[in-house]
Amino acid sequence: MITALAGGVGAARFLAGLQQRVNPSEVTVVVNTADDETFLGLHVSPDIDSIIYTLAGASDIAQGWGLAGESYRTIEAAGRFGEPTWFRLGDLDIATHLYRTRRLHDGADLTTITAELAQAWGVTLNIVPMSNDAVRTIVTVDDSERRELKMQEWFVKERSQPPVHSVRFEGAAAAQPAPGVLASIDAATAVIICPSNPVISIGPILAVPSVREHLRARRETVTAVCPIIGGRPVKGPADRLMRPLGIEVSPVGIAQHYAEICGTLVLDTVDAKYAAAVEALGVRAVVTNTLMSDPGIAAELAEVVLATVPS
Ligand code: GDP
Repeated sequence: MITALAGGVGAARFLAGLQQRVNPSEVTVVVNTADDETFLGLHVSPDIDSIIYTLAGASDIAQGWGLAGESYRTIEAAGRFGEPTWFRLGDLDIATHLYRTRRLHDGADLTTITAELAQAWGVTLNIVPMSNDAVRTIVTVDDSERRELKMQEWFVKERSQPPVHSVRFEGAAAAQPAPGVLASIDAATAVIICPSNPVISIGPILAVPSVREHLRARRETVTAVCPIIGGRPVKGPADRLMRPLGIEVSPVGIAQHYAEICGTLVLDTVDAKYAAAVEALGVRAVVTNTLMSDPGIAAELAEVVLATVPS
C-alpha cells in the first residue's frame, strides 16, 4: 500500500509514472479540495479532476489543464446571462461537474462521488478527497488595498498578480478527514508528498485535523518530491506564495517546510548543490532527474521515490 498527497497537474504527472511501476489498486491518493469552487451552480473540484483526467489519459497535455479536444460553447453562452466566464469550463468537463453536483444533491458525499468518477474513467488508483467537508483557500493580497480573494479568483481571474500577504484555509479546523484518509496514511508502506504547490495544494491537506500528526508519527517513511527546480516552480505560482510566507524558493525551503512530517526529499540534479543543506535539516536528500517532461521520466522518478522507503 502506498499513499500519496496530491494537488493537481504536477501530482497527476507523477502519479501517471507511479501507476506504471506499482499495482494501481494499491495506491491511495489524498487530494486537495480547498480549490473547489462553484461555477454555473456546479461543484467543481479542479485538483481531483486534473488527476482523474490525466490518469485516464484524457487530459489536454499542451494546455496543462482540462480535457483534450474541448470546446467552450456552454461557458460562452452562459456569459450572456452575466455568469462569470473567466474560469474556463469546457463543454465535456461540464458533464463531470453536472454529475458531481447532481450526486451531491442526492445526498452522496464527495468521497463516494470521486470514486464513481474515477471508476467511470477507468482509473484504478483509489482517489479520495482530503475531506468531505468544505475547506476553502482564501488568499489575502496587498495591492492598492488589502483584499481577500478566493483561491481561483487570485490564481485564474487575477492571474496570480496581486502580491500575497497571507493564506488561510477556511473551514479546515472544523473539517473531518475523509473516511480512509488517516487509515491510509497509517497503513501505507510509503507516503509520498507529490510535486505539488506546498502552500495551496499540500498546505490544505496538512491543515485537516490529525493529518499532520499521523504523518509526523511515521516521518521516516514519508518522501516528498521537490516542486522547485533551479530556483523556480516548473509551472504555477508556488514562488509567489512561498516567498511572502517566508519559505525560501529552493529545495532547502521545501525541506524546512516539510521537515516535521517528512524524512526524505527528492530533488533535481540541477539542485544537487543543496543536498548538504537539506541533510543538515535532518531530511535525507536524494538527487535525481525530477523534471517530468515525459511519462517515462515520471516512471523513473517514481521508482527512485519508492526506493527511498523499505518495501
Ligand atoms: P496545480 O494545482 O495544477 O498547480 O498543481 P500542483 O499543486 O500539483 O502542482 C504545481 C507544482 O508542481 C508546481 O510547484 C510545479 O513546480 C510542480 N511541478 C509541475 N511539474 C513538475 C515536474 O515535472 N517536476 C517537478 N519536480 N515538479 C513539477
